[in-house]
Amino acid sequence: MSLTDDIKDFALDLGYSRVGITSAEPFADYIKELNSRRDMYDWYIDGVYQPLKGADPRSLMAAAKSIIMTVYDASKEAFPEKLVGKIGRMYQARCYNAPRHRINGARRQLMRDFLEKCGCHVAERLVVPERLAAARAGVVTYGKNCFAFADGVGSFIIVTSFVVDAELEYDEPSMEVNCPEGCRACLDACPTGALYEPLKMEPRRCVAFNTFMTQDGLRPGITSHIPPEIREKMGAWIHGCDVCQEVCPRNKERLKAKLPPNEYLARVAKDFELTKVLNLSDEYHATRVHPLMYNYIREKKYFQRNAAIALGNMGDPAFVPDLARAMEDPEELVRGYAAWALGRIGGADARRVLEAGLARETADSARREIEAALAVA
Ligand code: SF4
Ligand code: SF4
Repeated sequence: MSLTDDIKDFALDLGYSRVGITSAEPFADYIKELNSRRDMYDWYIDGVYQPLKGADPRSLMAAAKSIIMTVYDASKEAFPEKLVGKIGRMYQARCYNAPRHRINGARRQLMRDFLEKCGCHVAERLVVPERLAAARAGVVTYGKNCFAFADGVGSFIIVTSFVVDAELEYDEPSMEVNCPEGCRACLDACPTGALYEPLKMEPRRCVAFNTFMTQDGLRPGITSHIPPEIREKMGAWIHGCDVCQEVCPRNKERLKAKLPPNEYLARVAKDFELTKVLNLSDEYHATRVHPLMYNYIREKKYFQRNAAIALGNMGDPAFVPDLARAMEDPEELVRGYAAWALGRIGGADARRVLEAGLARETADSARREIEAALAVA
């Protein structure tokens, strides 16, 4: 058996459903595309991930020869109905950037350990454009919604790259966009127009981006402010957004399949409430929020902000008491977004809470939100 075969056998034995290999040649088109859209992606290009360097793996690891791409099927078990529309399925799957002590991080670590045992040097912290690398390694094709799809699975997959210094056998690329002719369901369904043409997405308009990237001081040029026009279109999503994948015919079979439950998710879902995320205790954060959504959000207040937006969009006056409590939260961000939600729900009770809030509020940003909310409540 060749080293390539050994690696592929091991990856499949680990539970990855696809494995393919491509060369460590630069992703020249990606570099060009990213540079041409610097106005949209400056926060990413200039941030910690260094994607322009990752797109030319040898710029960070001179000996890089091959990229091993694995695909993990995250939709083999059912996602609880209660979390649908609130937490993106990939976050429920707990795959992205999983720590080594959790199952998905442990699987990645086992793969790294195996490659090292085979004599390969594996790059650390080198961020290649993984969907593109997976297409070049022949294990996925693109959809017009910018997601990667594995045949027979769909887009609820995690693609992971391992850049190594070994010369391996490369697979046939599958760079085509494999959508049914004329389909544009994802573009039509995107609530904010973030998907503005096939394979083009404006990240600052994307609901998912707004749920987790909008934090103060985390990415260059990005703050915690979410424009009201976007808030209104975020529905009840508090981490991620699956709309452009849910409407996709390429996911239809998997989404309608009768799948066995995931007992861990079922346990989380049982007592999952947006009102508890709004008035977030340390214990609820540690047991119900962080285990699913550890990837990007660094502070509790951003989950609380997102829950306030979700409750406001749900529009039920029954949430007013929970929002009234949030109006007394120590974080001005939480008070401000609770005010926005009260304005969106409207009615006499909401107005009373807003007026009381304005009378005691001292923070400028929260005062501005309360005044704007009172103007529409
Ligand atoms: S994730 Fe949501 S907001 Fe973002 S492009 Fe898809 S449908 Fe649009
Ligand atoms: S919804 Fe249609 S156009 Fe969009 S990714 Fe799916 S198949 Fe392609």
